Amino acid sequence: MHEHPLVGGIEAGGTKIVCAAGTGPGDLSRAVFPSGSDPAAALFAVTDWFREEETRRGPLHAIGIGSFGPVDLDPASPTYGFITSTPKTGWRNTDILGTVRRAFPALPVAFDTDVNAAALGEQRWGAAAGLDDFVYITIGTGIGAGVMAGGRLVHGLVHPEMGHMRIPRIPDDAFEGVCPFHGDCWEGLCSGPAMKKRTGTPAEEISPDSSAWRFEARYVALALGNIICALSPRRIILGGSVPNGGLLGIERFFKMVRAEVRDVLDGYIVSPALEEGIDGYIVPPLLGADAGVCGALALALDMLHFSDEVTKAP
Ligand code: ZN
Repeated sequence: MHEHPLVGGIEAGGTKIVCAAGTGPGDLSRAVFPSGSDPAAALFAVTDWFREEETRRGPLHAIGIGSFGPVDLDPASPTYGFITSTPKTGWRNTDILGTVRRAFPALPVAFDTDVNAAALGEQRWGAAAGLDDFVYITIGTGIGAGVMAGGRLVHGLVHPEMGHMRIPRIPDDAFEGVCPFHGDCWEGLCSGPAMKKRTGTPAEEISPDSSAWRFEARYVALALGNIICALSPRRIILGGSVPNGGLLGIERFFKMVRAEVRDVLDGYIVSPALEEGIDGYIVPPLLGADAGVCGALALALDMLHFSDEVTKAP
């Protein structure tokens, strides 16, 4: 096996599919395709691009896929590798893993959630370097979380769906939320579409003085408090478009969230990380918007490492 094998990464999102070929974040060629409402056409464009990359750069050794969900991650299931109950038009019951495998039958193909992939990418090359217990959260079109516990990505029964946690309502908030399943779950209250519905303005254009930012920071803190109580992560990485803070700015948004988290926990959990260390405890992703696609590359590299070990086993 090459020391730095060329692999492919696919970050399949509800709006766009980001593809990259390379050996790591410093060496990437990339392409972006709209997800649209026709998965077959979108995935054809994706596999076609990887074929062109092979012509340009040489053969790929593995492909990793980090996908929006819900997805089926159970290798024993007949629908393993499918996007399952998504409300996204056209994408329900899409065999995303099988489509890529059929296009590249000789290659190992890894599959996980987009947020688990991003968590892996941040651990390998970003804000979670050296950590075995942390959470990666994205707040954008939806809210999702990837969890690493004891050095392993958590899948469990299906996979964590923290965006759909119920969180207590702020007493003076009458907003009904936007989740088609639950209304005012965390995603229903705090996603980008929720901020837009609450104010009539896209999140990035909301005035820094709007109460929407106060609600957003408080609800995010209530959810993070639950996550801290449930998982005791050593760090929380908060990615996606909303934590960039729009006109408020990323620094002010993170400062508000950190202060609210301390208020929510109210001194109960004792750790320097939650006191003087909180600026390094709740942080933006170091890979920024590339966390997902770099994570997909990391999934591919791990798959390769794993199949290499299997090949070498006596
Ligand atoms: Zn929900």
